[in-house]
Amino acid sequence: MRVVKGDHIVVIGAARSGLAAACLLKERGANVFVTDSGEISESAKKRLAENEIRWEENGHSESSKTADYAVVSPGVPDESPLIQFYQQQGKSVYSEIEIASWFTEQSIFAVTGSNGKTTTASWMAYTWQKAERDMILAGNIGSAFSDHVSKLNPQTDVILEVSSFQLDHIDTFKPSVSMLLNITPDHLNRYQNDFSKYTASKLRIKENQTEGDTFIYWDEDPVVATKIEIEKSNSPVRYLSFSDSKEVDEGVFVREGKIYFKLNQKEEFLMYVHEMGLPGRHNLKNGMATALAARVAEIKNETIRESLMTFEGVAHRLEHVRTLNGVQWYNDSKATNVNAVWYALQSFSGPLVLIMGGRDKGNDYSDLIPELREKVHTLIAIGEGKAAIEKQLRDEVPNFVTVQSMGQAVDCAHKWAKRGEVVLLSPACASFDMFESYEHRGDVFKYAVNKLVG
Ligand code: ADP
Repeated sequence: MRVVKGDHIVVIGAARSGLAAACLLKERGANVFVTDSGEISESAKKRLAENEIRWEENGHSESSKTADYAVVSPGVPDESPLIQFYQQQGKSVYSEIEIASWFTEQSIFAVTGSNGKTTTASWMAYTWQKAERDMILAGNIGSAFSDHVSKLNPQTDVILEVSSFQLDHIDTFKPSVSMLLNITPDHLNRYQNDFSKYTASKLRIKENQTEGDTFIYWDEDPVVATKIEIEKSNSPVRYLSFSDSKEVDEGVFVREGKIYFKLNQKEEFLMYVHEMGLPGRHNLKNGMATALAARVAEIKNETIRESLMTFEGVAHRLEHVRTLNGVQWYNDSKATNVNAVWYALQSFSGPLVLIMGGRDKGNDYSDLIPELREKVHTLIAIGEGKAAIEKQLRDEVPNFVTVQSMGQAVDCAHKWAKRGEVVLLSPACASFDMFESYEHRGDVFKYAVNKLVG
């Protein structure tokens, strides 16, 4: 347990996790100063005042440059002049999960990956509940890790959803179980458009793991599997993997429609693939990752099976909204990159009406073309990205339509979808051009869908 009493610490960014880190450090006796380049919300100011923490907003003054080290919120990019200043001084810059872990002796189960983090971390929490095990679910999802630290019981497991931005600034962060679900290009703008930098950041999740710790990964991910193959024979860490298309050395895999654990070279039947609670191949993988983590936590196979069969998923991730006139409507507003859309399309056999668009991050949509040609008869594009989508995909579908609003998109989909078909909102883009968040986008979609009359 690290002692921070008397340390002079600057916290950069007063959003959810920065605020939580500041309060935790203050509680542990540090001298904390919060600085934000923008405005700090009224509720954050109230919390800072209650905790007697000094702060400044709308810029960084000289007082923000005199700390022993800095703690940075995940929303603050590395190019921030204040982060650069600390790094140039040779002073440390830590993320919020790093400092929360200084005061945590409980087992940490940390989940990262480009897609599937929230689903898997939530599925794990659900499994832990079914097993009546004490746990908290925090990190990127719900509340910040730092907000929980002082309330944990010795036996509480900490399930953390971890983004690569949090991993960029770890030092001693050491999960008992780390999980890397997949890596695909996303957020590359934060990594100088360098895929290897993004990969390296994600792999940091296991850099402090030692004997007795476990690393869980997807065995088919070409980037990860090659790296892991080389290092695993020389590491004391336990490596477990999951795959639905090949038999793994140690972990969980699928053979002829059945899911098996293979642990200590012994196979155990777990359940049938078709019994999995959530649809889609990606959810099969998320479920298998969940099963492995639960097994490492010594949760019984029977409970794991029940949890995999009954989990209903998280809103805005391939969420079933309604069936109307034999048409199934799905909200996948959280699909903010091309890979997530690819998995969504894989989850249906078609025919489909697909709604895409929003703030385009310079997407290359070509990976979607085979699925589009095979399954999608109508593609409806909305938002800022519609021109880019039109340019790349217009000729790949029989019917391409652009619309101005989500309401129009839903009306248009209603017009084109026939009985037995699926309408899917899976945007491949961020939501901020037209909505406050992906949740807001999904809610507007669901509202419009629920208002339709047959
Ligand atoms: P994250 O928290 O990593 O953003 P979510 O669980 O919120 O992941 O899912 C984000 C999007 O990615 C959703 O559209 C979901 O259907 C899709 N998705 C979920 N799991 C996976 C996976 N293992 N591989 C690819 N896409 C996935």
